[in-house]
Amino acid sequence: MSTPHYTLHINGEWVDTADKYEIRSPATGELVATVAKGGVAEIDAAVAAAKAAHIEGTWRNTPPAERAALVNTVAERMGARLEELAALQTRENGATIRITGALHIGLSVAQMQYIAAQAAEYEFEKSGPAIGPVPAEGILRREPLGVVGAIVPWNIPMLTIVWKVAPALLAGNTVVLKPDEHAPLIALELMKEFEAAGLPKGVLNVVVGDGEDAGARLSAHPDVRKVAFTGSTSVGQSILAASADSVKQVTLELGGKGPNIILEDADLSVAIDGAIYACMANNGQACEAGTRLLVPASRRDEIVDRLVARVNTMKLGDPIDLATDIGPLITADQRDRVLAHIRAAEAEGAKVATGGAAPSAPEFANGNYVEPTVVVDVTNDMKIARQEVFGPVLSVITYDSVEEAIAIANDTEYGLSAGVWGSNEEQTLDVARRLEAGMVFVNDWHVLHPAYPFGGYKQSGLGREGGPDALDEYTEQKYISVDRSGGVENKAYAIVLGTPA
Ligand code: NAD
Repeated sequence: MSTPHYTLHINGEWVDTADKYEIRSPATGELVATVAKGGVAEIDAAVAAAKAAHIEGTWRNTPPAERAALVNTVAERMGARLEELAALQTRENGATIRITGALHIGLSVAQMQYIAAQAAEYEFEKSGPAIGPVPAEGILRREPLGVVGAIVPWNIPMLTIVWKVAPALLAGNTVVLKPDEHAPLIALELMKEFEAAGLPKGVLNVVVGDGEDAGARLSAHPDVRKVAFTGSTSVGQSILAASADSVKQVTLELGGKGPNIILEDADLSVAIDGAIYACMANNGQACEAGTRLLVPASRRDEIVDRLVARVNTMKLGDPIDLATDIGPLITADQRDRVLAHIRAAEAEGAKVATGGAAPSAPEFANGNYVEPTVVVDVTNDMKIARQEVFGPVLSVITYDSVEEAIAIANDTEYGLSAGVWGSNEEQTLDVARRLEAGMVFVNDWHVLHPAYPFGGYKQSGLGREGGPDALDEYTEQKYISVDRSGGVENKAYAIVLGTPA
């Protein structure tokens, strides 16, 4: 079978370019697809198409229930292709087939359906409270912003796309989506389904391109009214700066350094697996991962022994195999960065309890693998405890009191996720309330749900995605006052000008 070639989608047309990306499996190096490579010119064409579609108005004037029905059709069609799309995602970015099915595609479909249901009920226009003492009446409207730019990473492409594209479209906006250059295929598959479902031309445009080139142009473009971004904190900062000139709205979903506290009375028969899952799901490449495991000094040795024993049973391997627990990292560079983090931790006094290297067996030779790793004797000032590692590397930090655990947990620039394990609900909830994070998981982790918001405190981001207020992030509020009295009595102007004699 010949290698599939994907093209960009601009103004209702599939557009090829002279430059191409080669998408290679991070597990085997096999060529999965080639993809057209867009740049500034393609972003400009896509923004112009989205702006024209917004002005022309077919989509924003489509009744919300019809917009919701179209998004539901797309969700259904993506859901019907779950197995095929999960396999494509696994081959493209190396996430294991178990997680691409359940989370990448499955949860994304549920998220689209949830926001579509919300949009069908959303009050785009309603009467406001009485104004008095003037005779005017108030109307409150929620209107689309115009052109929305969406920029997403490679680690969980479909979910980070639908968090932006679904509410933006459901609110009547037009969109230019720039997927990550390492994993753009799901975005283009989604575009095909929107086209098949009859989305008008120019309403959704997809331009794959490099970050510094296509991404930077989209985030600075004067005709883009909002940028919704998921990615690293450093790129998020540059997007925030680029938004200043044209005063764009910005939603940022950035990095994390999730603290995961095991309390003294925690049931280790669930907390050990939970701690590994918190850190190593998606091959350790999840922004909301629990990467700093805080353990009580009194149970430190027992916890470390059980962690090491369990990690040693985990199967590293081809992510397309259902038996595989951990697959490869996205690129060889990323593998080398993760290994460098482990070596730097050792140089600062931490110890590798298990893992810590790239596997040497021949079956791993063409993949970007790192063994699942537990690093112990980590202190919260070490680089490995402060910076995102983005690999299957769990750092164990010891604490003496719950107060100290909370202080260590909150001593970070990030605030995306946190977690706590314990048997006393009063205590676990007290700790949960005191953790500075947008999401806190008690006795589990990665419990993402369409009805709850996703996002972080501090340098983990700005705004929230999904959840009950998803559409608010993609609408302007407008207040219209209407005086239907026809008379001069009690006019607002009369308060200053007086009434004519
Ligand atoms: P990244 O920031 O390098 O890239 C993300 C996207 O931004 C890509 O599409 C890239 O092409 C684009 N980009 C790069 N430079 C740009 C620029 N100067 N201007 C505009 N766009 C630019 O992130 P990454 O390394 O690919 O992804 C991993 C990061 O994403 C991690 O930090 C992770 O925590 C974060 N992440 C956050 C969430 C969340 O919801 N908070 C979810 C997933 C991933």
